[in-house]
Amino acid sequence: MAVDLKKYREIKTELDARQVQLVAVSKIKPVPDLMNLYEEGQRDFGENYVQELVDKQPQLPADTRWHFIGHLQSNKVKYLAPFIHLIHGVDSVKLLAEINKQAAKSNRVIHCLLQVHIAQEETKFGFDANELAETIQAIQTEGALSNVMIDGLMGMASFSDDTVKVRGEMKFLKELFDTYSAVKTSNCHFTILSMGMSGDYAMAIEEGSNMVRMGSLLFGARL
Ligand SMILES: *Cc1c(COP(=O)(O)O)cnc(C)c1O
Repeated sequence: MAVDLKKYREIKTELDARQVQLVAVSKIKPVPDLMNLYEEGQRDFGENYVQELVDKQPQLPADTRWHFIGHLQSNKVKYLAPFIHLIHGVDSVKLLAEINKQAAKSNRVIHCLLQVHIAQEETKFGFDANELAETIQAIQTEGALSNVMIDGLMGMASFSDDTVKVRGEMKFLKELFDTYSAVKTSNCHFTILSMGMSGDYAMAIEEGSNMVRMGSLLFGARL
């Protein structure tokens, strides 16, 4: 299935009106599909796999903003550090320390979101509420992390028809986001709540998301 430009324009107009940022999730999709959206004005693209991202990056114009939305292993941070715009899935202090180290080597500040485990499914990564509290405490006290900037939180709700459950998970993430929005340090300043995908973005926006990660609705199903 090809890129649905009409759908893109519709969604983009709707999101712009609500001041919600759109990350076009282009994993597994070929570069010409990404270029179709680039030509429509889309600049933010999300990828899940380091190798695929590193391969695609030089093939799109230099002002493309690349988001890493997958599970990132510490030993791969170095491949993304020179150019990555935002890392959504930070789920350990160890990973954050490695991002900081590699960012320093590239003479950059790398923007990150902390991933919170909000779904009941076992397979989803992220901090629970207690770990999040500890991590934010560590970020505040650990003055050494001067090459990262924590911009907010990311979460994935359950894949479920149980809208009460899904909405509850989203509300929980928004509460955490509001709580930690009070923290303002040199490396932590919450402005982004990355929540919502093709299937649940409307609800996510109702619940306070200001950045949605959308793949299949724009690019067609990933077969
Ligand atoms: C694949 C993926 C998306 C996009 O999913 P769609 O259902 O295709 O919109 C969003 N976020 C993450 C973390 C993903 O892995």
